[in-house]
Amino acid sequence: MIIKTDPDTIQNYLSDASNYRGDSDKVYIPDNSSELQKAVSECYFSKTPYTISGAGTGLAGGRVPKNGAIISTENLNHIVQIDENTRLAKVQPGLFLSELEAELNHKGYFFPPNPTEKNSSIGGNIAVNASGSRTFKYGAYRNFVKSLNIILPNGDETLISRGKYNVKNKMLKFYSLRKISYNIPIYDINMPDIKNASGYFMKNGMDAIDLFIGNEGTLGVISEAELEFLPLPEKILGLIIFFDSVDKLLTFVDNIRYTSKINNKLNYQDVSDISARSIELYDANALKILQSYYPQIPQNVNGAVWIEQEMTAQNEDEIISKWYALIAEFTKFTDFIWTALSENEHNTFREFRHQLPLHISEQIQRIGFRKVGTDTAVPDDKFIPFYKFVKNLLDKSGIEYAIWSHAGNSHLHANLLPNSQKQFDDSVKIYDEIIHQTLIFGGTVSAEHGIGKLKKQYLLDMYGDEAIDCMRTVKKVLDPYNLLGRGNIFD
Ligand SMILES: Cc1cc2nc3c(=O)[nH]c(=O)nc-3n(C[C@H](O)[C@H](O)[C@H](O)COP(=O)(O)OP(=O)(O)OC[C@H]3O[C@@H](n4cnc5c(N)ncnc54)[C@H](O)[C@@H]3O)c2cc1C
Repeated sequence: MIIKTDPDTIQNYLSDASNYRGDSDKVYIPDNSSELQKAVSECYFSKTPYTISGAGTGLAGGRVPKNGAIISTENLNHIVQIDENTRLAKVQPGLFLSELEAELNHKGYFFPPNPTEKNSSIGGNIAVNASGSRTFKYGAYRNFVKSLNIILPNGDETLISRGKYNVKNKMLKFYSLRKISYNIPIYDINMPDIKNASGYFMKNGMDAIDLFIGNEGTLGVISEAELEFLPLPEKILGLIIFFDSVDKLLTFVDNIRYTSKINNKLNYQDVSDISARSIELYDANALKILQSYYPQIPQNVNGAVWIEQEMTAQNEDEIISKWYALIAEFTKFTDFIWTALSENEHNTFREFRHQLPLHISEQIQRIGFRKVGTDTAVPDDKFIPFYKFVKNLLDKSGIEYAIWSHAGNSHLHANLLPNSQKQFDDSVKIYDEIIHQTLIFGGTVSAEHGIGKLKKQYLLDMYGDEAIDCMRTVKKVLDPYNLLGRGNIFD
């Protein structure tokens, strides 16, 4: 195991993609899970606070240490096994998502959730219940995690498989590999029935594994994970559609979300109708940024929608005709529809999609202010009023901004790009107003990035003191000295 203590070699671990910074004097870099367990035990017995670091692409300061030590999973980066019979991949936590996806694609499979940042680690993805464009059809990471090997904060190890331990009479009982039993009181928290990555998952009858998915490195260290994967579809249709009117764009999104929810089936072969697996939206400002990379984007557009649908060689023509006919009802830009069918064309679309968060992340790093970007989702029937509320607020502000949205999940990233301290302070106020409106609409303060150290007050606003105290009780059972991931989710 490498142990770094020279301040110069630690700098890279002190922040994440949010630009939030912390401090630490020691980084453990274990090479295998027994070294990982040793590092955790050392911190536990010396009562040293410690923070788990994945790839550092997080946007909520979760891996940023509040003093104490860091345990980095960067060398635990192997695929342990891909079992094509059970369609389960066993992986170490530091493996990059890109590497898992490449290996699965090579064998004719894919991993459904599809977060945009491929240089993130699987452990980090599970720790925040990450999600992506295909979450509209398939759900978030949670739906594909079948088992987790976890080093608990005291160094004890447990294997939690889906279906093995469930909450009974408000109590979750599970055992470690050494047969030590853990009894955790679980109260039913009023979680909104939408895409959500805010706080611990707590529900009557829930599976123990769901407590550890999305715990943001506060309840245990994921040392190995088993993930389910699916066979690649025979064909995929990708479309990028440009709109002249925001109203028509939003009605189009509502229409295809509704139809797709009815038609979406795991057996995509049985569906020859509109049945999107991804629905993503870009506002006019986002397209303006992208125009410098893609000059072929038409002028005077008021937004764009990118969709993907799975197809077969038999129903391909029928499905494409249905999409073109529907699109013609909603936009004048029918001559500018971009279509992707080949792998190369889909790769171009993927780059197009990734370019925007990447551009914004780089701009934020350059300017030096913390990113002010929302990660809120609302119930589907509130999406249109919510989108208009946010757009109106941002237009009035005079601050540069760009919106993109996982519109299938009514999930919106409004990114403010302040260029002065005054604009930064105003951006924070606008962020607060957006959160306030999200909660009025029954939404969530974080749908995929997590709470980390930056959104604790918003989580409190969302759930209230009682629910946060229930989360604290869970934490106290597993980590009585509050050593692991200190400062994440709640104080
Ligand atoms: C350009 C860009 C695009 C992005 N797009 C998306 C997107 O589409 N969808 C999405 O969901 N997110 C997205 N993100 C956010 C980020 O990529 C995710 O939050 C990702 O899951 C973080 O993984 P990481 O390995 O970088 O984790 P880190 O940032 O290192 O850590 C994140 C949290 O996980 C904990 N953690 C890490 N490893 C473990 C472990 N082994 N055990 C326990 N806890 C652990 C950390 O302590 C921390 O709390 C994007 C970020 C950027 C910069």
